[in-house]
Amino acid sequence: MKAIVEDTCTGCGVCVDTCPEVFELGDSDIAIVIADPVPADSEDACRDAADQCPCEAIVIQD
Ligand code: SF4
Repeated sequence: MKAIVEDTCTGCGVCVDTCPEVFELGDSDIAIVIADPVPADSEDACRDAADQCPCEAIVIQD
C-alpha cells in the first residue's frame, strides 16, 4: 500500500497525529510521506488518517 499527499494539504497535522509512522510535517508545513510503502501494521492508521483529512488530500493506492 502506498500513500500520497496532494498539494491541497493545508498542514493541519491531523494525519501526523493519527499515523506518525507514515506522515510528518515537512519544511513547507505540508505533510510528507516518510514510509513508502506503508508498513503492514500501519495500514489501518494510514486509512484512518486519509478518512480524517479535512482536505481529502491523502490518496491511498492499494
Ligand atoms: Fe495535510 Fe490532510 Fe495531513 Fe492535514 S490531515 S496535514 S490537510 S494531509
